[in-house]
Amino acid sequence: MTIDRASVRTILKPWGRLDLGPWASKNHQDSPVGEISFDCGEEGGPDRLLLLKLLFTGETLSIQVHPDDAIAKSMGMKSGKSEGWYVLAAEDGAQVAVGLKRPLTQLEFRNAALDGSIDGLLDWQDAAAGDVFYVPAGTVHAIGAGLVIAEIQQRNDTTFRIWDHGRSRELHIDQAIAVARLEPASSRKLPRHITVERAELMSCPFFTLERLDLPADTVWELTASRESWALVVAGGGAIGSLTARIGDGFFAEADRADIRVGPDGIVLLIATAASSPAIGLLSKPPAKDLSKPGPAEATSYLAGPGVDPSRLPGVSL
Ligand SMILES: [Zn+2]
Repeated sequence: MTIDRASVRTILKPWGRLDLGPWASKNHQDSPVGEISFDCGEEGGPDRLLLLKLLFTGETLSIQVHPDDAIAKSMGMKSGKSEGWYVLAAEDGAQVAVGLKRPLTQLEFRNAALDGSIDGLLDWQDAAAGDVFYVPAGTVHAIGAGLVIAEIQQRNDTTFRIWDHGRSRELHIDQAIAVARLEPASSRKLPRHITVERAELMSCPFFTLERLDLPADTVWELTASRESWALVVAGGGAIGSLTARIGDGFFAEADRADIRVGPDGIVLLIATAASSPAIGLLSKPPAKDLSKPGPAEATSYLAGPGVDPSRLPGVSL
């Protein structure tokens, strides 16, 4: 098996923007693009668990909430939608909202949704490049203007819109009340280094998001033991036989490929359908120079099997 280039779908949104540089080369003259959605070739396949997207905001997204697994299954869907955000670019003053400032009753929430005052009851936080947020299903949230965000999410796009800032799209306040936790949320995640090159950005029961920061002109081995998605967020090089440039997405499952890093280094986001980082994800390929063979020389760049990476000392990015 090989690592494949992800297919790309560009989705227009009223809150999107025209300038997608440097993440995409397509020029959208007059229709704002809100999302670039990555998928694997065969329309995702029935058993895929995750979706990887780039979000571009020219205006604030709707205030919204997504169902959790239990509610989604009761509605005939396979899964709920928890999502994780990695901020790639932020204009000065850009903000995201995750959870409420204070607990609300259902009646308070309904009234605030109907008159728009819900916006002022959200826990808006400054967002800068490199910030990581976790938005569990059931958390009321919104993304403000002026942001480019890489989003990893469970594979379900069911969204209950609570307030759309005066835009004319349909609202789903009753459904939102049925699934929302009307309380504050603790959402900001601090990255934690696993090795010098590898940082865990966040983990949750549904996915793990990592950042690989690989130095110029080096070669690595990437081993995906389960559904994994990669996105180039800086620099470039090659993954297997495929050129890897900023904005490129890749899909892998039970695959192994060399990463050959170009002269500017490469930064990759890796999202895996696992609740913690995989020990053997990134390793140095076996040394070609056999003049000094060592007994059972370790080729894994990480701690050996049986070591839980969450026990390794962490350093914030
Ligand atoms: Zn959402």
